[in-house]
Amino acid sequence: METSDDPAALLLVEDDRQLSELLTELLTGAGYSVDAAFDGQAGLHWALTRRYAVMVVDRGLPAIEGTQLVAKLRAQGVTTPALMLTARGALDDVVEGLDAGAEDYLVKPFEIPELLARLRALLRRHSDSADSIDLGGRRLDIAARRVFGDGQPPVELSSRECDLLRILAGRPSRVFSRSELMDRVFGAAENPGAVDTYVHYLRRKLGKDAIETVRGLGYRMGRV
Ligand code: CA
Repeated sequence: METSDDPAALLLVEDDRQLSELLTELLTGAGYSVDAAFDGQAGLHWALTRRYAVMVVDRGLPAIEGTQLVAKLRAQGVTTPALMLTARGALDDVVEGLDAGAEDYLVKPFEIPELLARLRALLRRHSDSADSIDLGGRRLDIAARRVFGDGQPPVELSSRECDLLRILAGRPSRVFSRSELMDRVFGAAENPGAVDTYVHYLRRKLGKDAIETVRGLGYRMGRV
């Protein structure tokens, strides 16, 4: 889904200016085009307004800390893979970062070749799954019409279930009205109750919290 305009565009969010400069220089030398943000707020702004192939995010940041930054981006549907830098190797920190939606982490101090290797691996994995949407743990593979991951058995979807889920999951914080979902998934000819029927099917397959009913307004992506 999320394809980058520049395959090597990288967002670096690191408040240690010296480290940021050093990393910018090294990453630029390795072929990345680097935007450097020095706090979480600026990082959030850049990540929401530009498309990056990959992000490197320090965990301890002013304004918005690294895990919060990644969680906010995921909540907005930004699936750009993130490598988190952490000064602390404590398991809790790592788990928190990964739970927030980071794909990988490195403990400071780290060796540059390792950083570069991890970034290459992230880019490779992400381009393999470019036709999938993060559901906050599990993913939707659009081409295969399958929900997979998070240690759970894969769930096969019909094409309409997949279309409906793709629209909801693409903008997870937004509420969609029945008529909008009707137009986008089913077309005018269909029975107006079709949206409710397919929401019911998706809940049956993915759990009752998968899609949230917003009374009087419509539906929103829930927890899968
Ligand atoms: Ca820091």
